This record gives sequence, C-alpha cells and structure tokens, in this order.
Amino acid sequence: MHDAISAGEGDEPGPRLNALKEFHSSGRGFWKNVSDSDWNDWRWQLKNRITSLAQLERLMPTLTPEERAGTELSNSKLALGITPYFFNLIDPADELCPIRRQVIPRIEETHTAPWELSDPCGEDSHSPVPGLVHRYPDRVLFLVTDRCASYCRYCTRSRLVSNASGYDFHPDFDRQLEYIASHPEIRDVLLSGGDPLLFSDEKLEYLLSRLRAIRHVEFLRIGTRIPIFLPQRITPELCAMLRQFHPLFISIHANHPRELTTEVRAGLGRLADAGIPLGNQSVLLRHVNDDVEVMKALVQKLLLCRVKPYYVYQCDLISGSAHLRTSVRKGVEIMKALRGHTTGYAVPQYVIDAPGGGGKVPINPEYVLSRNADRVVIRNFEGKVFEYPEARDGRPMFKPSEDFCPPELV
Ligand code: SF4
Repeated sequence: MHDAISAGEGDEPGPRLNALKEFHSSGRGFWKNVSDSDWNDWRWQLKNRITSLAQLERLMPTLTPEERAGTELSNSKLALGITPYFFNLIDPADELCPIRRQVIPRIEETHTAPWELSDPCGEDSHSPVPGLVHRYPDRVLFLVTDRCASYCRYCTRSRLVSNASGYDFHPDFDRQLEYIASHPEIRDVLLSGGDPLLFSDEKLEYLLSRLRAIRHVEFLRIGTRIPIFLPQRITPELCAMLRQFHPLFISIHANHPRELTTEVRAGLGRLADAGIPLGNQSVLLRHVNDDVEVMKALVQKLLLCRVKPYYVYQCDLISGSAHLRTSVRKGVEIMKALRGHTTGYAVPQYVIDAPGGGGKVPINPEYVLSRNADRVVIRNFEGKVFEYPEARDGRPMFKPSEDFCPPELV
C-alpha cells in the first residue's frame, strides 16, 4: 500500500484560494419578504424561476446588450430559467461573473462554427429506443425528462432540454425499461435528462423500483444539477427514499467554488448521510473555471462537501458555445497544477467526449516520457525524471540489463 503525503513548492494556500473556499449562504436578495417556508420549499423556487427578459431586466438593470439580445432569442434555442436561490449568487456588477456566464443567455449563442453540432456526443445515433442511449457495452443512459431547475447555456443536450427548439422529447418508460430488461449485458443505468430529481419522490421511487426489479442491473446512478441549482429539493424524505436503492451513486455538476454554498453543503451532507457516494462532473468553461486557483478551490471545497471530483469535461462542440470554450492546452495546464499538488482524491479525470459519439477520452499531462522494452521513463509532478525497470519478456527480473541506469533517488 502506498501512503504518501508530499508537498510541491509554491503550494501554500494564498488569500485568494482561501477566500474562494469560504462557504456563504445565497441569502434572500430580492426575495427578502418571502416567508422562510416558501423560500425553503423547492416547489416555490421552481414556480418563481426567472424565465423572461422582463423579469431579468427588472432584477438586473446591469444586463448588457449582448445578454439582452441573447435572452430575447433564447426561447427558440434553450429556454431561460434560473431559480431565485441560484440567481442570488450572480454578481450584477460583474459582467464576467462566473455564475452569470453559466445561466444568462448571450447573443454569441446564435453564432455557430462549422465544427459545432446540435448533438455533439452522437447520442441520437446510439439510441435504440427514444430516451435511451446505449453507447458503451455494459451501461445505458436513461433520459427521463427534458426539464431542469435552471438551464446551463453550454448544455450538451440543449437540442432537447427545455424543448425551446421543438425537439419534443417524450420518454416512454415502458419501452426504455423493456430494452434494459431484455439486454442482460446492461449492469449499470444512469438516470439523467434533464434532471431526474425534478420528479416527485413517488415518481422517482416508481422508476427506481422498476429498475431494481431487473436482476442484471447491478448499479444505479443519477446525474443531477439539482443539489446546486435547488438544494431545497434535497429533503430528508427524498434521501430516505433514495437509500432503499443501493448501490446508488449520484453525480452532481458544480463548476465554480461559489456554487458550493452553506445550503448546498447541507443538502450534499444529507445525501452522503443516506450512504450515497457523490461525485462531481465539471465542464471547463472560459472565464468560469479556466483558472488554476479557481479549479483548486473547487476540488478542495468539493471534498469538504463529501463529494469526489470525478470528471472535468472539455466543453463539447455544442452549437453556439465558442464563447464559453477554453483550450485543451489550458485544461492540461490545470490538471498539471492539481496532480501531486493537492490530495489525490481531489483530482478529477480530464476528458474530451469525442465528437460524434466516440465516448470519453482521458487527457493527461505527459508523465511517461519514453517506454522501451526494459524500462519506462517517467516524470513526477515536480518535473523530476525517473526510470522504472521491467523485464523485456514479462518474466520476473532479478538483475538489470547492461545499459540500465539506476533510478534517481528522491
Ligand atoms: S442541468 Fe444538465 S441537462 Fe440541465 S441544462 Fe444544465 S447541463 Fe443541461
């Protein structure tokens, strides 16, 4: 077993990192006259979402012309929707506010580059039954709804989510479940959408029970951004219902440390207390989290919320997302600054979902410098180079080959 704690130079937390890691409440902001019971009621939050330009202009007079024009057109692409709770995290004085960039439409969403696609992960072409994506051998993506608590402007599924572009997503649960039941190779089902936690406890319980009744389904997962957009939904009743279906994992989606508020930490704590392993999937976004310190604060703060940073995605080539994308070079630089420089549990896997349906491809900084028949030359996080000997023929090796150089000792 390797138990190692090592520090890199310049890894002491600076004041900016510490400030980013502080937990704050979203506060009441414009809704200070709303009763506690309404504010903490997830259905009230949904009913009072910001969904129109008129509401947005009233609440945020600092809307820029690009945002105003983008919002005007959003109802034919991806709807505008922001919960009051999440809206309070926006800094109206900062045009580059990382929260604002994720949920307020901009006119750039109507600019489409030739390589951008409406279905960048090729889900529709791997869909044997509407609402079911079978791209990997032993697992399926089970899309249950096209609705979310708030809408992310870079959403990979914006072709169907919110139905603004008229995709008309109508899942047929019986057909989806029948396909899973008749394919014994499917051992893992990921419920996603849209956001499955928008369903009532009863509806979700019905679906999970039907899945659990299929003997070859070993493992259930839910992909959700509700704990971030609407932590009020993570009620004790929901957690008690979910815990009946173990092994059940939940993947959340947070991109910036400011999204991890005291409310979110409490909701995630309730899920963790129900025995649900939690992972986080982030999307690398320009002026949101394409910054080493922001990403380090995010992954460390996730551990404080009992969430394992799982994936960082290079932003998919979704139509109208160029203004939110950042370079792969930047992504590799961030990963290099995390690996070895912070807790291994805090380091996510950086991936590109290969355009057109190739699946997730891991992208790593170069740690293997060369590989010969009898040695591997590796570089560690401090840039030091080492050799690791191995036998040419795979048999146990007891003495070095003649040209072997002993590894540098740390
Ligand atoms: S919560 Fe997920 S599915 Fe919904 S808009 Fe955001 S990225 Fe898309």
